[in-house]
Parts: sequence; structure tokens; C-alpha cells
Amino acid sequence: MEKEIQFKMLPEQAKNEGFIKNKLAELSGFDSAKLNFHWKKRSLDARKKEILVLGTFIVSDEVIVSQDSVNFTKSNVASKKQLAIIGAGPAGLFAALRAIELGLKPIVFERGKDVRSRRRDLAKLNKEMIVNPESNYCFGEGGAGTYSDGKLYTRSKKRGDVKKVLDWFVHFGASSDISIDAHPHIGTNKLPAIITAMREAIIEAGGEVHFNSKLTDIFIENGTISGIEINESTKFDFTQLILATGHSARDIFYLLDKRGIEIHAKPFAIGVRIEHEQSLIDSIQYHGRLNDDYLPPASYSLVEQVDSKGVFSFCMCPGGIVAPCATEQEEVVTNGWSPSKRNNPYANSGIVVSIDPDDISINSEDPFVCLNFQKQIEKKAWELAGKTQRVPAQRLTDFMQGKKSVDLPKTSYQPGTVSVDLTELFPDFITVRLQKAFKEFGKKMNGFLTSEAVLMAPESRTSSPVSIPRDRESFQHVQIAGLYPCGEGAGYAGGIVSAAIDGMKCVEKIAEILLIEV
Ligand SMILES: Cc1cc2nc3c(=O)[nH]c(=O)nc-3n(C[C@H](O)[C@H](O)[C@H](O)COP(=O)(O)OP(=O)(O)OC[C@H]3O[C@@H](n4cnc5c(N)ncnc54)[C@H](O)[C@@H]3O)c2cc1C
Repeated sequence: MEKEIQFKMLPEQAKNEGFIKNKLAELSGFDSAKLNFHWKKRSLDARKKEILVLGTFIVSDEVIVSQDSVNFTKSNVASKKQLAIIGAGPAGLFAALRAIELGLKPIVFERGKDVRSRRRDLAKLNKEMIVNPESNYCFGEGGAGTYSDGKLYTRSKKRGDVKKVLDWFVHFGASSDISIDAHPHIGTNKLPAIITAMREAIIEAGGEVHFNSKLTDIFIENGTISGIEINESTKFDFTQLILATGHSARDIFYLLDKRGIEIHAKPFAIGVRIEHEQSLIDSIQYHGRLNDDYLPPASYSLVEQVDSKGVFSFCMCPGGIVAPCATEQEEVVTNGWSPSKRNNPYANSGIVVSIDPDDISINSEDPFVCLNFQKQIEKKAWELAGKTQRVPAQRLTDFMQGKKSVDLPKTSYQPGTVSVDLTELFPDFITVRLQKAFKEFGKKMNGFLTSEAVLMAPESRTSSPVSIPRDRESFQHVQIAGLYPCGEGAGYAGGIVSAAIDGMKCVEKIAEILLIEV
């Protein structure tokens, strides 16, 4: 017989299998000699001084069979109906895998390089400050999710879909801990192997993955997609096309506009990336408890309404690195990542202000109003950084007072920092909200407001500044038959998990249509 049992324990007890087994025997009434168990969920509650782990377990006095994981099921699709997928980010890769499951042949075109070759371009960017516009932190196999913290949290309410994404990550090599932890993450060092395994599975099943293959045009006949052009030279016929090109593929937004496809300016967020010493964040979040082997590097999540706009922490990376995420040479963009152990000495997070199209321009009907604003700030940052990939930076307390920092502490941002008064980078409606929000964050986290914290800017690729209208769930409204705008770039996802879910959803719709055609 199986039972589900939940109890709270100290972090050191959560690492002690003998303790857990005895406690489960006591609570279940099963004989501890015969008892089998596995974790179902694990979360850390550090709100009070006594930090506790809340564990949910499946317990049995027999062998436990009900692991209920959703496996990826392979089939041979080499001679099956084809669909084109543009972009090998989480949306594109999960679309390809789901296509195989449903008996369709995915042909993936990715503008960047495979995950291994991509690493060399990132080294060039970090060391020589050279941005390869086709291979960088946003473009290349695995998409923007590859060199990330690999946080797998989502606001998606569809537990079944989320579980499938997590289970597939485990199937392709992620630790099974991600299915248990309340705040799962994979880590930059582990993601490339997982993504490689996904690509190998696609090819093994008879699908195709093409690198250095940029979509440069689409062909439409009688309101239906009829083909694509790759690298301005080769044309392919396709009647089903998933466009999963992410939030940084500006050329795709321009292309769609040129081809008469409706796109809209979309609310997004812009701000700074803040970096503290990880030990300070641990000390704040764990009530002074430091260097504790039983506690993970601490994270935080902050949100404040300031003058009717949300200001919030975004993509917080404990034990992380601030990364140069530009996709063109003449712009500076920040974001953050962490390795699986989150063992770097710094904690970083985006702190961003929500922006609506009409905050920027009275011409808020212009589909490019937010994109142009984003571009303008990124370009200005590049100019302020002496036309390099160094990052404009300022001590937090100096930013609060609107004065340039005399010197800057060491940071994790490899290309280096340039002291700039960031109030020069942003319009007042962003600066003032950030300043007010930091004041409030300092009240919530005692010690957060310190001169040792550094702001680097801009954090500007939080989400897509453009959306491509599509009926999100039912697909009743598809502008061009056979064209499926998908994932973060189209405005239907805000992270790895939701992008993956959207990729699968688009393929399911295509399968439904192709089946009807049979
Ligand atoms: C440094 C960093 C850290 C992040 N950390 C996290 C995190 O911890 N957790 C989280 O949930 N999210 C994180 N994100 C965000 C996350 O990566 C994205 O939300 C997610 O990758 C979006 O998936 P997508 O497939 O829609 O698009 P993308 O991942 O952006 O993939 C789009 C792909 O399309 C390709 N492409 C673009 N244009 C073309 C074209 N014309 N032809 C062919 N291919 C094209 C690109 O090269 C890219 O590979 C992070 C992002 C960055 C940059």
C-alpha cells in the first residue's frame, strides 16, 4: 500500500535518509525495515529564524512502482509529413520532440551554431568584446535558455504540461531533483549536454536539425504559408511553419511587418542588473546563518508597485555571473546565469520597471515603439561604455543619490565595467521608479541597500517588445494558415518552461490539422 506523507524538518535532517525513514515509519505506521519511499516535493521555508524543509513523500511497505514520470516516446518519422521549425530554443526543440511523438517529421532551422561551437563565440565576446550577431548568449542551439541559470519556474497553471517538460528534461539528462524541488534549476554547465541529447534524439528519429540556417523570407499564397527562404538563397516548400525565433530576432519582426503580417507593440520591462556578494544575500535571507552546508545559496524575489507601475526582480541568479547578452556589436545588454552548484561568490538579479507602449510614445499604435525604445537604450549604453562591450555600472547607493561612482567594486561581468551615472541612461520615469523601489526593497531585506552592491545596465531583454497575434489556446485566429508564431518572441512565453509548453501546443494543433487532411 502507498501513502502520501508530508512533514517539516530541519535542513540537516532533510539530507539524512535514516532520519527520514524513521520519521516516515512513525507517521505511516509501516514497519521501517520494509518501508520504501521517495520524495514527491521539497521546498525550503526560510521566512522565520528556524529554517525548515517541507517534504512530501510517497511511502509504501512494498516496492514503489508509481513514479508516474512522462517519458519521451520515440518513433521513426523519416518518411512522415514534414513541418518546419525556425529556432532551436526551448520552444523549437520541444516542438520538434513533440512532433516526433505525434508521428510528424520536424525540420529545424537555426541561425546559430551547435551548442559546442557556440561556446567559442561566447569566449570571444567575454574576452575580446566581439559580438557575433548569429552566435551569442541569445542565438544558437538551445536558444537563450542554454547559457542561463536554467531556472524552471513558471506561472503556468497547467500542471500536466509543466510536468511533461520537467520529465523530458530528466529523460535527456537533467537531475531528477528538478521534478521534486519547488524552485528547480539546471545550471549553465549541465544544459549543453541535455540540449545535445535532445538534438540527437530528433535526428535519430528521422528529424533534421540545420545550423547556420537563418530564415530570411517567407512565402504566402492565398493566405496560406507555402515556403521559406534560408540564408537569402535556398528555398524550401512547407505548408506548416512554427516560428520560434525568440525575443531578440528583430529581423524577423521586420520581415513579418514587411510581409503584411499584423504585429503589435507589447508591454515589457527594462531596468538594471544588480549584483551583491552572495554571502550578504545568504545572511539576509537565512537570518545571519552563513556557510551552512545544508542550505542552498539564497535567492530572493522582490516586487513593488511604484507610481502605478510594477518594479520587480527578474531572473535572480544565486551564485551567478552577469553576462553580456548583446546580439549586435553596437549595443550593451545584461542578463545572468549560474552553474548548477550556484557556487560563484556573487548574487545577481534583474530589477526592472514594467513599460507600456503609451509610457514611451503617444504613437503607441506603432508596432515598433517598444522595440525602438529598447534599441535606443541599448545603443546609448554602448556609447556610455566607450563603444565597447564593457557595461555601464554604478554603486547602488550612488544611483540612489544620482552621482557617478568614484570607483567600482569587482564584479562578475567579464568584459569589465565603466563608471557611469545610470540616471543618464534612462528617462526619469524609469530612474525615479527604480530609486523608489530600491528604497522599499531595502526595508524588506535589511542590508540590501549597500554601497557594495553594483548596478549594471541595461537589463532590457526581459521579454519580447512585440507580439504576433494568434489565438493563444484555441488557434481560431491564425493570421496566415500554416504559420504558427510561437514561444517568447511571439509573446506567448516568458521563460524556458512556458516556451517549451507553447512549442508543444503549436505542434499539437498542426497534428490535428494534418490528421484532418489525411
Ligand atoms: C542569460 C539568460 C539567462 C536566462 N535565464 C533563464 C532562466 O534561468 N529560466 C528561464 O525560464 N528563462 C531564462 N531566460 C529566458 C529564456 O532563455 C527564454 O525565455 C527562452 O529561451 C525563450 O525560448 P524560445 O524558444 O521562445 O526563444 P529563444 O530561446 O530565444 O530561441 C530562439 C531561437 O531562434 C533562433 N533564431 C532567431 N532568429 C532566427 C532566424 N531568422 N532563423 C533561424 N533561427 C533563428 C535563435 O538563434 C534562437 O536559438 C534567460 C535568458 C538569458 C539570455
